[in-house]
Amino acid sequence: MNRFFETLYDSYSQEFRIDELLYENKTGHQHLLIFHNASFGRVMVLDGVVQTTEKDEFIYHEMLAHVPIFAHGEVGRVLIIGGGDGGMLREVVKHDRIDRITQVEIDQQVIDLSIKYLPKHSQGAFEDSRVNIVIDDGYRFVKTCEDTFDLIISDSTDPIGPGEVLFTPDFYAACKRCLNPGGILVTQNGVPFMQLDEVKSTAGYLAAVFSDWHFYNAAVPTYVGGMMTFGWGSDQQMLRKTSLATLVTRFQRSGITTRYYNPEIHRAAFALPQYVLAAIGKQSNEQL
Ligand code: SAM
Repeated sequence: MNRFFETLYDSYSQEFRIDELLYENKTGHQHLLIFHNASFGRVMVLDGVVQTTEKDEFIYHEMLAHVPIFAHGEVGRVLIIGGGDGGMLREVVKHDRIDRITQVEIDQQVIDLSIKYLPKHSQGAFEDSRVNIVIDDGYRFVKTCEDTFDLIISDSTDPIGPGEVLFTPDFYAACKRCLNPGGILVTQNGVPFMQLDEVKSTAGYLAAVFSDWHFYNAAVPTYVGGMMTFGWGSDQQMLRKTSLATLVTRFQRSGITTRYYNPEIHRAAFALPQYVLAAIGKQSNEQL
């Protein structure tokens, strides 16, 4: 019986039993492995790092999509960078108000093989008429693109391999260039208990380009080490502080069904523990 050991950290690892090997090969960009595990369902791994599992993906995708969309209230155009498994797209297309979604994914094979082996992730979202898929490097795209967006979601791999460029100051500055006034950038920012330096450096990059920036959090079991952080940057401070009453109204009006997200979780997610606040140079009374 085969087992998979994650190689994200040198000194610590999670292990899965591979109950059924579905796919393993090198794409033009990365090593891709998809297998079934009795506890987590289908699991996708890129370059030895767990990307997504059928069991817990809803937490990650709902929080990275719905928090900025409901905070903003008038998102019409969305840019997703990465996200080849289609889970983010599935959550974004739930919003009828959104009229255009561009997704820039570097690796066509991740999309094709996710549609084949992880169909519960995209649930047909790649076929939505509002969606435009671009196969390109996300940094190159934001550096040169002429379009602007109300929301940019960086649904990237960790800063290893092709995803490294999505954790640089130039990437954050280029995203800012593509945002409409009052637009929001959200990013996957790893697990601070294990990757505190990543949060620290992202804090510096966000602070350099946005007048309002912070992180919010959720615990996703297969991103091991406790809660993960999502980066938040905007020039509109009020959006991060959108009231519970407004969020409740927007959520109810949307008619969207979720399994993790709700307005109370949304508000609470911006509260960060002291060790994270210390790392990003903020005080607890500045948070909410
Ligand atoms: N939820 C996941 C996590 O937190 O690890 C991320 C999943 S999603 C599969 C990550 C995607 O980012 C992959 O499909 C990968 O091909 C894509 N990606 C990596 N580097 C990229 C880049 N520079 N531009 C666009 N997409 C990129």
